[in-house]
Amino acid sequence: MKKIIIILAIVILAGTVFLLAKNVFRKTVPPAPANSISMSTPASENNNPPQEMPVPSAPTDNQNTPTVQNSNGFQSPLDRAAERVTKKPFGIYITPKTSPVQPERFQGYHTGTDFEIFPEEQSADVSVRAVCSGKIAVKRSASGYGGMLVQNCTLDNQSITVIYGHLKLASITKNAGDTLNTGDEIGILGKAYSTETDGERKHLHLGVSKGFSISILGYVQSQSELSGWIDPCSLGVCK
Ligand SMILES: [Zn+2]
Repeated sequence: MKKIIIILAIVILAGTVFLLAKNVFRKTVPPAPANSISMSTPASENNNPPQEMPVPSAPTDNQNTPTVQNSNGFQSPLDRAAERVTKKPFGIYITPKTSPVQPERFQGYHTGTDFEIFPEEQSADVSVRAVCSGKIAVKRSASGYGGMLVQNCTLDNQSITVIYGHLKLASITKNAGDTLNTGDEIGILGKAYSTETDGERKHLHLGVSKGFSISILGYVQSQSELSGWIDPCSLGVCK
Protein backbone atom coordinates (compact mmCIF):
# COMPACT_ATOMS: atom_id res chain seq x y z
CA MET A 1 0.00 0.00 0.00
CA LYS A 2 2.79 2.38 0.92
CA LYS A 3 4.53 1.56 -2.35
CA ILE A 4 1.44 2.41 -4.38
CA ILE A 5 1.08 5.79 -2.63
CA ILE A 6 4.75 6.61 -3.33
CA ILE A 7 4.39 5.65 -7.01
CA LEU A 8 1.21 7.73 -7.29
CA ALA A 9 2.97 10.70 -5.66
CA ILE A 10 5.90 10.38 -8.11
CA VAL A 11 3.52 10.20 -11.10
CA ILE A 12 1.58 13.29 -9.92
CA LEU A 13 4.81 15.18 -9.22
CA ALA A 14 6.26 14.22 -12.63
CA GLY A 15 3.04 15.30 -14.35
CA THR A 16 3.03 18.64 -12.58
CA VAL A 17 6.69 19.26 -13.44
CA PHE A 18 5.99 18.33 -17.07
CA LEU A 19 3.02 20.71 -17.36
CA LEU A 20 4.95 23.54 -15.70
CA ALA A 21 7.92 22.99 -17.99
CA LYS A 22 5.66 22.96 -21.05
CA ASN A 23 4.06 26.24 -20.00
CA VAL A 24 7.39 27.94 -19.39
CA PHE A 25 8.71 26.65 -22.71
CA ARG A 26 5.74 28.08 -24.57
CA LYS A 27 6.27 31.47 -23.00
CA THR A 28 9.94 31.70 -23.84
CA VAL A 29 9.77 30.55 -27.45
CA PRO A 30 9.50 33.64 -29.68
CA PRO A 31 6.71 33.71 -32.26
CA ALA A 32 7.67 32.55 -35.72
CA PRO A 33 8.90 35.52 -37.73
CA ALA A 34 6.55 36.77 -40.41
CA ASN A 35 7.64 36.30 -44.01
CA SER A 36 7.87 40.00 -44.59
CA ILE A 37 10.44 40.54 -41.88
CA SER A 38 13.97 40.41 -43.17
CA MET A 39 16.74 38.39 -41.61
CA SER A 40 18.36 41.49 -40.20
CA THR A 41 15.27 42.60 -38.30
CA PRO A 42 15.95 42.53 -34.56
CA ALA A 43 14.01 39.85 -32.70
CA SER A 44 12.30 42.51 -30.58
CA GLU A 45 10.37 43.63 -33.66
CA ASN A 46 8.87 40.21 -34.23
CA ASN A 47 5.77 41.26 -32.35
CA ASN A 48 4.60 43.26 -35.38
CA PRO A 49 1.39 41.89 -36.86
CA PRO A 50 1.98 39.86 -40.00
CA GLN A 51 1.08 41.54 -43.30
CA GLU A 52 -1.96 39.35 -43.89
CA MET A 53 -3.73 40.84 -40.88
CA PRO A 54 -6.39 43.29 -42.03
CA VAL A 55 -5.35 46.84 -41.32
CA PRO A 56 -8.32 48.93 -40.29
CA SER A 57 -8.83 51.95 -42.50
CA ALA A 58 -11.54 54.49 -43.14
CA PRO A 59 -13.87 53.08 -45.81
CA THR A 60 -14.15 56.40 -47.60
CA ASP A 61 -10.38 56.84 -47.91
CA ASN A 62 -10.36 56.43 -51.67
CA GLN A 63 -13.32 58.69 -52.30
CA ASN A 64 -12.04 62.12 -51.46
CA THR A 65 -8.33 61.82 -50.97
CA PRO A 66 -6.56 63.55 -53.86
CA THR A 67 -4.22 61.25 -55.70
CA VAL A 68 -0.56 61.78 -55.11
CA GLN A 69 1.39 63.72 -57.70
CA ASN A 70 4.11 61.84 -59.58
CA SER A 71 7.71 63.02 -59.82
CA ASN A 72 6.96 64.19 -63.38
CA GLY A 73 4.30 66.55 -62.03
CA PHE A 74 1.39 64.46 -63.33
CA GLN A 75 -1.48 62.86 -61.43
CA SER A 76 -4.64 60.86 -62.09
CA PRO A 77 -7.70 62.72 -63.43
CA LEU A 78 -10.10 60.63 -61.30
CA ASP A 79 -10.02 58.67 -58.05
CA ARG A 80 -9.28 54.94 -58.34
CA ALA A 81 -8.12 55.55 -61.90
CA ALA A 82 -6.50 52.13 -62.39
CA GLU A 83 -9.79 50.35 -61.74
CA ARG A 84 -11.51 52.43 -64.42
CA VAL A 85 -9.45 51.46 -67.46
CA THR A 86 -11.54 48.45 -68.43
CA LYS A 87 -12.80 49.05 -71.96
CA LYS A 88 -10.61 51.13 -74.23
CA PRO A 89 -6.98 51.45 -73.22
CA PHE A 90 -4.51 53.47 -75.27
CA GLY A 91 -3.73 52.06 -78.72
CA ILE A 92 -6.51 49.46 -78.89
CA TYR A 93 -7.71 48.90 -82.48
CA ILE A 94 -11.47 48.78 -82.67
CA THR A 95 -14.13 48.37 -85.31
CA PRO A 96 -17.89 48.62 -84.86
CA LYS A 97 -17.86 44.81 -84.70
CA THR A 98 -14.92 44.23 -82.31
CA SER A 99 -15.30 47.21 -79.98
CA PRO A 100 -15.73 46.43 -76.27
CA VAL A 101 -18.36 49.19 -76.30
CA GLN A 102 -21.57 48.41 -78.16
CA PRO A 103 -23.04 49.90 -80.21
CA GLU A 104 -19.87 51.44 -81.70
CA ARG A 105 -19.61 54.06 -84.42
CA PHE A 106 -15.81 54.45 -84.52
CA GLN A 107 -13.02 52.50 -86.16
CA GLY A 108 -9.27 52.85 -85.67
CA TYR A 109 -6.53 53.00 -83.07
CA HIS A 110 -7.69 54.65 -79.86
CA THR A 111 -5.44 57.67 -79.27
CA GLY A 112 -6.26 57.98 -75.59
CA THR A 113 -7.28 56.09 -72.48
CA ASP A 114 -10.92 55.75 -71.46
CA PHE A 115 -11.73 55.92 -67.75
CA GLU A 116 -15.09 54.33 -66.93
CA ILE A 117 -17.45 55.30 -64.12
CA PHE A 118 -18.55 53.03 -61.28
CA PRO A 119 -22.26 52.05 -61.14
CA GLU A 120 -22.91 54.39 -58.21
CA GLU A 121 -21.56 57.33 -60.27
CA GLN A 122 -24.12 57.02 -63.06
CA SER A 123 -26.23 59.87 -61.71
CA ALA A 124 -23.62 61.52 -59.49
CA ASP A 125 -21.29 64.40 -60.26
CA VAL A 126 -17.89 62.96 -61.13
CA SER A 127 -15.13 65.55 -60.87
CA VAL A 128 -12.28 65.50 -63.36
CA ARG A 129 -8.94 66.95 -62.30
CA ALA A 130 -6.07 68.32 -64.37
CA VAL A 131 -3.39 65.68 -64.89
CA CYS A 132 -0.66 68.30 -65.32
CA SER A 133 0.02 72.03 -65.04
CA GLY A 134 -0.49 74.19 -68.08
CA LYS A 135 -2.69 76.62 -69.94
CA ILE A 136 -6.07 75.80 -71.40
CA ALA A 137 -5.81 75.99 -75.19
CA VAL A 138 -9.37 75.11 -76.14
CA LYS A 139 -12.67 74.72 -74.35
CA ARG A 140 -15.59 73.87 -76.57
CA SER A 141 -18.03 71.27 -77.76
CA ALA A 142 -16.55 68.90 -80.34
CA SER A 143 -17.90 66.10 -82.50
CA GLY A 144 -17.32 62.71 -80.87
CA TYR A 145 -16.59 64.27 -77.48
CA GLY A 146 -19.33 66.65 -76.49
CA GLY A 147 -17.70 68.95 -73.92
CA MET A 148 -13.95 69.00 -74.47
CA LEU A 149 -10.98 70.76 -72.94
CA VAL A 150 -7.48 70.92 -74.40
CA GLN A 151 -4.55 71.80 -72.17
CA ASN A 152 -0.92 72.45 -73.06
CA CYS A 153 1.59 70.94 -70.65
CA THR A 154 5.28 70.09 -70.54
CA LEU A 155 6.85 66.67 -70.20
CA ASP A 156 10.65 66.44 -69.88
CA ASN A 157 10.89 69.98 -71.32
CA GLN A 158 8.82 68.91 -74.36
CA SER A 159 5.43 70.37 -75.16
CA ILE A 160 2.47 68.03 -75.05
CA THR A 161 -1.23 68.48 -75.63
CA VAL A 162 -3.75 66.93 -73.27
CA ILE A 163 -7.36 66.33 -74.33
CA TYR A 164 -10.17 65.72 -71.86
CA GLY A 165 -13.30 64.46 -73.61
CA HIS A 166 -16.96 63.95 -72.62
CA LEU A 167 -17.09 66.72 -70.01
CA LYS A 168 -20.12 68.78 -69.08
CA LEU A 169 -19.05 72.00 -70.78
CA ALA A 170 -21.20 74.21 -68.52
CA SER A 171 -19.39 72.87 -65.44
CA ILE A 172 -15.99 74.16 -66.59
CA THR A 173 -15.50 77.56 -64.99
CA LYS A 174 -12.04 78.31 -66.40
CA ASN A 175 -11.50 79.49 -69.94
CA ALA A 176 -8.95 79.29 -72.73
CA GLY A 177 -5.79 81.09 -71.63
CA ASP A 178 -6.32 80.27 -67.96
CA THR A 179 -3.82 78.02 -66.22
CA LEU A 180 -4.79 74.71 -64.65
CA ASN A 181 -2.41 73.25 -62.10
CA THR A 182 -2.01 69.54 -61.48
CA GLY A 183 -4.98 68.34 -59.43
CA ASP A 184 -7.17 71.39 -60.11
CA GLU A 185 -10.79 70.47 -60.69
CA ILE A 186 -11.69 71.06 -64.33
CA GLY A 187 -15.37 70.20 -64.25
CA ILE A 188 -17.59 67.14 -64.15
CA LEU A 189 -18.25 64.31 -66.58
CA GLY A 190 -21.08 64.82 -69.04
CA LYS A 191 -24.39 63.05 -68.73
CA ALA A 192 -24.54 59.66 -70.46
CA TYR A 193 -25.96 59.57 -74.01
CA SER A 194 -26.56 63.33 -74.12
CA THR A 195 -25.07 66.24 -76.01
CA GLU A 196 -22.62 66.62 -73.12
CA THR A 197 -20.94 63.37 -74.20
CA ASP A 198 -22.02 63.57 -77.86
CA GLY A 199 -24.17 60.52 -77.38
CA GLU A 200 -21.50 58.39 -75.70
CA ARG A 201 -21.66 56.59 -72.37
CA LYS A 202 -20.56 58.57 -69.31
CA HIS A 203 -16.75 58.26 -69.17
CA LEU A 204 -13.58 60.28 -69.54
CA HIS A 205 -11.45 60.11 -72.67
CA LEU A 206 -7.93 61.31 -71.93
CA GLY A 207 -5.61 61.81 -74.88
CA VAL A 208 -2.01 63.05 -74.85
CA SER A 209 -0.29 64.05 -78.07
CA LYS A 210 3.28 65.13 -78.70
CA GLY A 211 3.87 68.83 -79.32
CA PHE A 212 1.32 71.61 -79.29
CA SER A 213 -0.99 69.67 -81.54
CA ILE A 214 -4.27 70.91 -82.92
CA SER A 215 -5.40 67.35 -83.59
CA ILE A 216 -8.10 66.15 -81.27
CA LEU A 217 -8.75 62.86 -83.06
CA GLY A 218 -9.94 60.11 -80.77
CA TYR A 219 -8.96 57.48 -83.33
CA VAL A 220 -6.31 57.30 -86.04
CA GLN A 221 -6.09 54.86 -88.95
CA SER A 222 -2.43 53.83 -88.85
CA GLN A 223 0.30 52.89 -86.38
CA SER A 224 2.48 55.74 -87.68
CA GLU A 225 -0.22 58.26 -86.82
CA LEU A 226 -0.57 56.64 -83.42
CA SER A 227 3.14 57.29 -82.77
CA GLY A 228 2.25 60.98 -82.47
CA TRP A 229 0.38 60.11 -79.29
CA ILE A 230 1.57 59.13 -75.81
CA ASP A 231 0.00 56.43 -73.64
CA PRO A 232 -1.43 58.47 -70.72
CA CYS A 233 -0.83 55.55 -68.37
CA SER A 234 2.91 55.73 -69.13
CA LEU A 235 2.82 59.15 -67.44
CA GLY A 236 1.53 57.60 -64.23
CA VAL A 237 -1.99 59.04 -64.46
CA CYS A 238 -3.77 55.66 -64.32
CA LYS A 239 -2.95 54.95 -60.69
ZN1 LIG B 1 -11.85 57.29 -75.83
